[in-house]
Amino acid sequence: MDLFSSVLNCDLHCHSICSDGLLPADAVARRAAANGVDLLALTDHDSLDGLHAARAAADALGMTFINGVEISIEWGGLQIHILGFNFDAADAALNGGLAAIRSGRIARAQRMAADLERVGIHGTFAGAMGFAANPSLISRSHFARHLIESGVCKDMRSVFEAYLIPGRPGYVEHRWATLADSLSWIHQAGGIAAVAHPGRYRLSRGDMRRFLAEFRDLGGEAIEVMSGSHTPEHIEVYARLAKEYGFLASRGSDFHGPNESYVDLGRLPSLPDGLQPVWQAF
Ligand code: AMP
Ligand code: MN
Ligand code: MN
Ligand code: MN
Repeated sequence: MDLFSSVLNCDLHCHSICSDGLLPADAVARRAAANGVDLLALTDHDSLDGLHAARAAADALGMTFINGVEISIEWGGLQIHILGFNFDAADAALNGGLAAIRSGRIARAQRMAADLERVGIHGTFAGAMGFAANPSLISRSHFARHLIESGVCKDMRSVFEAYLIPGRPGYVEHRWATLADSLSWIHQAGGIAAVAHPGRYRLSRGDMRRFLAEFRDLGGEAIEVMSGSHTPEHIEVYARLAKEYGFLASRGSDFHGPNESYVDLGRLPSLPDGLQPVWQAF
């Protein structure tokens, strides 16, 4: 495939049941192909489990597939997500690092459930686990689905706002990997690193610039300019910052499942003109 074509439909950010998505990895790949995606990366949170099945399904349909992952890190007290692309999925440092992140998730979920008990919401650990096909990837999304199903909140937006973001009763501080860890794992495995959905973080402009400079100085290559969670203003701001910092630009829906995600696989607008697509480096 000609990765320099400007008309490629690339979707480099999505999830399967191996983390907090709603579809099996092979079904994600089939849905992407049906939606006209030319190049897909599956980027489950902190897990490489779905890559094999997604690749096999993509191969069967003639869609190009590259390995991906979305790594949870902590920077400046915030949870930030770093995407890794096109790495060797057998790399020991990357697999060891991701296993270390996963090992903290169950204890964190127990603390979240204990916090929710204190505000009178019972049984959320078991409830959230009921939604987690992969218990080692238990996440806030699974708590959210349980709290909606049990009638505590009406939708994803309100459940995060009421219970699952900093300052709310179900949110607990957690130590994830560092920015330097995530970049060294991705790079040791031969991959390329991108900042996921930069518009989503509650960073001041100055702190965002400090973060991007640190990411660049540690060898980070790309930022997600087109994301399912970006507003038109975010797209403008991050297109400008990509040019200023010399970052490659990425495009990803962040699809988690039908009826839950704002944007379906492959259904984002194209990258703005004047940016260098990250897939040209694959
Ligand atoms: P965790 O990795 O357990 O902290 O869970 C984070 C996940 O929750 C993200 O990957 C998203 O899928 C989801 N999420 C985070 N914030 C929101 C939000 N405001 N609305 C909907 N989903 C969210
Ligand atoms: Mn997620
Ligand atoms: Mn994310
Ligand atoms: Mn994501």
